Amino acid sequence: MPHSSLMATYAPPEILFEKGEGAYLITREGDRYLDFISGIAVTAFGHNHPHLVAALKNQAEKYWHTSNMFRVEHGERLAERLCANSFADRVFFGNSGAEAVEAGLKMMRRYHFDRGDTKRNRIIGMHNAFHGRTIATVAAAGNPSHTKGFFEGDLGCDHVPFGDIQALETAITEKTAGVILEPVQGEGGILPAPEGYLKAVRNLCDQHGILLMVDEIQCGMGRTGKLFAYEWAGIEPDILSSAKGLGGGFPVGACLASEKAASCMVVGTHGSTFGGNPLATAVGNAVLDLLLENGFLEQVTAKSLKLREGLQQLAGKHPAILGDVQGLGLMLGIKCHVPNTEMLARLRDAKLLTGRAGSDILRLLPPLNLTDQHIEEALEILDKTCAHWG
Ligand SMILES: *Cc1c(COP(=O)(O)O)cnc(C)c1O
Repeated sequence: MPHSSLMATYAPPEILFEKGEGAYLITREGDRYLDFISGIAVTAFGHNHPHLVAALKNQAEKYWHTSNMFRVEHGERLAERLCANSFADRVFFGNSGAEAVEAGLKMMRRYHFDRGDTKRNRIIGMHNAFHGRTIATVAAAGNPSHTKGFFEGDLGCDHVPFGDIQALETAITEKTAGVILEPVQGEGGILPAPEGYLKAVRNLCDQHGILLMVDEIQCGMGRTGKLFAYEWAGIEPDILSSAKGLGGGFPVGACLASEKAASCMVVGTHGSTFGGNPLATAVGNAVLDLLLENGFLEQVTAKSLKLREGLQQLAGKHPAILGDVQGLGLMLGIKCHVPNTEMLARLRDAKLLTGRAGSDILRLLPPLNLTDQHIEEALEILDKTCAHWG
């Protein structure tokens, strides 16, 4: 095994990619794979995008790192632009999704602490959620297969079924500091929040004076056809975690917050050596350039409709294999009546890269700038794979 010195936390297939070209990953032998998983919604503009490469190269030839002991111009600009295009007034940068979530979890507790309400230190999360793999983020998601053996108790987190407003109302106590949820659950199965749910959660949080944090690490940054998925629900959160697509493949995470929520985060409360690094934030700005181009997000919705329609047709043609299509924008899932791991492997053999989610969902996270031709190619591979299943 070529990867035997790595910890056994992953089990990748034997393929080794050498380069990327837009929506394709290419092996040394020249085999081209259509990438419909994008490193889990990270390479939002495919591979080797000239605008992103230029931004990284340009900064790489200047300087790489100063730490936050000094001002970082790209970071200040990226924060300003994220705020100008969202509910937020303040941004904290980290290097990953989990760090962006951690910043928000700390903020929700510190917010009440600073107001003298030290009892309010518990967070309510959702069943089937995913917020990362650090101790605090696995506690917030509460998935037993991720917490097992790592700590005792609940580390200050309660959990309710996603979409059940009654259960949430019952779970809120005088100890609750805030609620965290994904507007579209990712790992849990590509499940958008039911109609009206986010609005009801927002109302409950306001009623109880607690904070609402949305984790948009997967569903944000244009993935659903809006810059952020909460916009579909007509609400504003207090805190939002972003990462994945934000760096287009360069590691970066961001915790966005309203002035009200962020005012507790003063000098000394939180920090990161690498967070907001000039290389990462230079690329983040370049990603935003592309996302904010006139009409781009509308194109995401148009491509989504086309892909969805094609998937639904295939589900009708192969009802023993494929089921319902779910999701929002270019964050799509299709139910598999055959094991989703085997579907993923067979599609990979046919040169289409996909992912899985939940127990029976095939996850599609193509680049946001994909073409109709990419959609047709993917549908054709899926069609052939289903036709030859038996
Ligand atoms: C991927 C993901 C995370 C964790 O991000 P990392 O960069 O792996 O730490 C958290 N929340 C959601 C919704 C995610 O999809």
